[in-house]
Amino acid sequence: MNKKQIDNATKSVWAGEKDYLVHGATQVPVVHSVAYNYNDIDEWFEVAIGKRKGHIYGRNTNPTVQSFEDKIKALEHAEAATSFSTGMAAISNSLLTVLKPGDRVVSIKDTYGGTNKIFSEFLPKLDIKVTLVETGNHEEMEAEINKGCKLVYLETPTNPTVKITDLSRITKVAKSVGALVFVDNTFATPINQNPLNYGVDLVIHSATKFLGGHADALGGVICGSKNLVHDVYHYREINGATMDPMAAYLILRGMKTLKLRVEKQQENALKVATFLSNHEKVEEVFYPGLETHTHHDIAKKQMNGFGGMLSFSLKGELDAVRQFLPRLEFAHRAANLGAVETTVGPARTTSHVENTPEERAALGIPEGLVRYSAGIEDIDDLIADLKQALDAIN
Ligand SMILES: *Cc1c(COP(=O)(O)O)cnc(C)c1O
Repeated sequence: MNKKQIDNATKSVWAGEKDYLVHGATQVPVVHSVAYNYNDIDEWFEVAIGKRKGHIYGRNTNPTVQSFEDKIKALEHAEAATSFSTGMAAISNSLLTVLKPGDRVVSIKDTYGGTNKIFSEFLPKLDIKVTLVETGNHEEMEAEINKGCKLVYLETPTNPTVKITDLSRITKVAKSVGALVFVDNTFATPINQNPLNYGVDLVIHSATKFLGGHADALGGVICGSKNLVHDVYHYREINGATMDPMAAYLILRGMKTLKLRVEKQQENALKVATFLSNHEKVEEVFYPGLETHTHHDIAKKQMNGFGGMLSFSLKGELDAVRQFLPRLEFAHRAANLGAVETTVGPARTTSHVENTPEERAALGIPEGLVRYSAGIEDIDDLIADLKQALDAIN
């Protein structure tokens, strides 16, 4: 059977595991060994220089971690993948691998808060210029890219206002000026979107979120061409932001249900978004699956589903949010997202906690915005829960 024809639901379960099973086990073991033993120094040397398969030291590679990398690689239709201790390590290591003083980056205002900090605080110190355009303004982005840049950095949908960028449109312009394109695919997951299919050079995930799905392990991963991934891998093996084998195991296990979870989460998200849109206490709802969303048509074109993330603002702003959030019974008030449990939080204490109120305002994030990560619970229970909490706002 042609590999390309196998659905991602099947790959989530089966891909990347066979080479790592031992003693007839059906599950990939957690290999906690820091180093690997060689009696033959010639074999050891060949493994060390990458001529032969094997492992030397846990900061470089580990079998459990590699199994996770092989699975995500299959899901993203990529030539190669390498992993990191966190999503932010994946982002920072990838940026620092390809950028040097004098380079210019074009990105959007609405990247994840941590990414935004790298752009505003750390890259400028290295004399790397970053231009952030209004998220979703394709004309402005094309004009900035055409001035010349080394890298176009995208995230779609964005956190927390779920804005959409047209991947094939922007990638085409980036290629015409010889720029690389990186995409943070955390919100979409490989179930809904495979950016490499649009000519993107590198896909980045915070594996902490939907990939793991159970909010019990931190991780990050990138997928792309062998050469580019190897360059970033080399930076990471020296930099040391390596994924822990136990985290790799937990994420690997979580990934088996990735498609099941994402399908249920986005079914719930659409119903929650529709319910909220019709509620008198709600000011505005952001969800790419709603026809009222500015870029609903682009989302429909490039995504297989609209994802489990939405956000909304309440009439009465922060005061209303203060009354509303504590009343929710089936939602963690917590900083993560993409887990089986519904999770809610204001952007000012989650994705953009690193930013000042002025910075958040400049990024177009209302102080009363609530981010909602739909879980896999029964939809009637979620809606009843939202209803009682909204009705109690005075
Ligand atoms: C959480 C998140 C990150 C950072 O990932 P960590 O694993 O927390 O370091 C990056 N991008 C997006 C879109 C995220 O949601």
